[in-house]
Amino acid sequence: MTDYTLPAEGVASLPAHVLAEKIQAGELTSREVTQAFLDRIAETDAELGAFLHVGAEEALAAADKVDAQVKAGGAPASALAGVPLALKDLLVTTDAPTTAASKILEGYMSPYDATVVKRLREAGIPILGKTNLDEFAMGSSTENSAYKNTKNPHDLERVPGGSGGGTAAALAAGQAPLGIGTDTGGSIRQPASLTGTVGVKPTYGAVSRYGVIACASSLDQVGPCANNVLDTALLHEVIAGHDEFDATSVEREVAPVVAAAREGASGDLSGVRIGRVTQFDRPGTQDGVNEVISRAFSQLEAQGAEIVEVDCPTFEDVMGAYYLIQMSEVSSNLARFDGMRYGLRVGDDGTRSAEEVMSLTRGEGFGAEVKRRILLGTYALSVGYYDAYYLQAQRVRTLIARDFARAFELCDVIAGPAVPQTAFKLGEKVDDPLAMYNFDLFTLPLNLAGLPGMSVPAGSAPDTGLPVGLQLMAPAFADDRLYRVGAAFEAGLGR
Ligand code: GLN
Repeated sequence: MTDYTLPAEGVASLPAHVLAEKIQAGELTSREVTQAFLDRIAETDAELGAFLHVGAEEALAAADKVDAQVKAGGAPASALAGVPLALKDLLVTTDAPTTAASKILEGYMSPYDATVVKRLREAGIPILGKTNLDEFAMGSSTENSAYKNTKNPHDLERVPGGSGGGTAAALAAGQAPLGIGTDTGGSIRQPASLTGTVGVKPTYGAVSRYGVIACASSLDQVGPCANNVLDTALLHEVIAGHDEFDATSVEREVAPVVAAAREGASGDLSGVRIGRVTQFDRPGTQDGVNEVISRAFSQLEAQGAEIVEVDCPTFEDVMGAYYLIQMSEVSSNLARFDGMRYGLRVGDDGTRSAEEVMSLTRGEGFGAEVKRRILLGTYALSVGYYDAYYLQAQRVRTLIARDFARAFELCDVIAGPAVPQTAFKLGEKVDDPLAMYNFDLFTLPLNLAGLPGMSVPAGSAPDTGLPVGLQLMAPAFADDRLYRVGAAFEAGLGR
């Protein structure tokens, strides 16, 4: 029987940094490595459903370029040159369709590459294909994809989380050693937690959003995913940095995340103050998750960290604030999908007005969750309601940022659960949008404040046997602290 979790041996079992070293040393070619992952995809993806598109030829061509460079003895294009990657299908690419998992973009080909994609190509990282997600990155289970469900490699009856379930499942199954996700309210950290992989949401503005199909622009951030902390750090350095094509991209040095991950690998956390948020200890959290997180705090303490209790009262109001802001921005961002400029066009037979064609196209092209959010967001922004809803939510957002600022006066990093439960069953929450929204309770505050966060595997819950992620959070532009603590925690857990 096929085992869908990470293989125990062979090329597909190896971390990205090890593969990169072997490629540069001439022990493996990038073509062999890339082919091994393509084989793994071919073997497992009919069942797993992580990919919407596999670009074998393009990936192998990129691999050959790296092999030619190694043969010629030139300097590697990056520390990850030759190691292939799974790309969330929310980033536009010129050599593969970009759908955002929506029918409205079926078959859409972009005339340009996203900045992150351009950087991956320049770094010699072959792109294996585009991974599944919730339509336009809205959801918590990848079940809102218009194309297929993705399964959790640890239990095929369960979801891999969302919206970036495809990338997370691909990593957990050994279909790819590196992945790219986007995180608006938890879409990198939450699937990482549910699949036992590592996912990082960098500080808002650290990574370019140019060519990332907008979900909620003031919250969206692209980030690195992998099976260990060092690999995410190496990928972080490839994709981060200022981009003149993104007005919100910041002009400052990229935090020294690789050095921090290497430093953390010693496992020593003496002198590090780790905050434990009172409001994250809440009823409704699965016992098994609480157990794993308590153990994680004990371990961090044993590694030398000082644990401090921090109070963030406004985290209680995060749901309303996030969903109001998220939906308002969505209603505006998704107005561009009107059947005139991109992808699908319905009913344009010469008898209908442009408005009718737009209405038919949007009616057919968007799924139920996307429509729900466009309607609610439009309502929240309308005259007479704007002050009561959108503006009020922005005020709460400011208060949440203040709670974080106060907390970071007392600690260097905050730790806690990434999600309230382990992976749930496919279909379990699809008819209950609020239950789906509630699942992201612990990941939302960070996005509203624009701060960096990570989910790092913390072991499996004793009650369900499924993976639980420890969420780490840091002040803006102190992304390196996540890697220092994350790598130390990972090292401590392995001992
Ligand atoms: N689950 C959250 C939502 O549906 C977060 C999505 C995301 O981070 N892209 O909005």
